[in-house]
Amino acid sequence: MNIVSAQSAHWTDEQLIDHIYGIGPTDGHLNQCAQCTSRLSVMETRRQQVSLEEPVTDHFLAAQRRTIYARLSEPHHWWHSLQFRHWASAAAMFAVLVGSAAMYQNHRHEVAESRADAQLAQDVSQMSLDSEPQAVAPLKGLFIE
Ligand SMILES: [Zn+2]
Repeated sequence: MNIVSAQSAHWTDEQLIDHIYGIGPTDGHLNQCAQCTSRLSVMETRRQQVSLEEPVTDHFLAAQRRTIYARLSEPHHWWHSLQFRHWASAAAMFAVLVGSAAMYQNHRHEVAESRADAQLAQDVSQMSLDSEPQAVAPLKGLFIE
């Protein structure tokens, strides 16, 4: 996260957080570095502010638990099992399959057409090679081999 800190041997943010939770590095850098110490104090101050902002009360937990139980005890309708996500993903997969099949069919048709064109060109070129001009045929009859 903090590349500059890693290069100058200051502790990274992750190392400072680890130190807050008592598992940080034990190289004693905090004793020597005022910058890291001030960063650590900012982090600890912010942590204390967050923990004081919204204390989780028993009332909140009880209300949350009641909500969960109410949802669990609701009757289960059949349309709840038809979850939109599953149908959406199945529909997307189906669309992909249909699209792929259509593209494959299109490709096969194009290949067949190109083969037919190639065959036609080959036939025509063969005919042009095989056939001799009609004017030559009577002349050929004059020469008996
Ligand atoms: Zn430092």
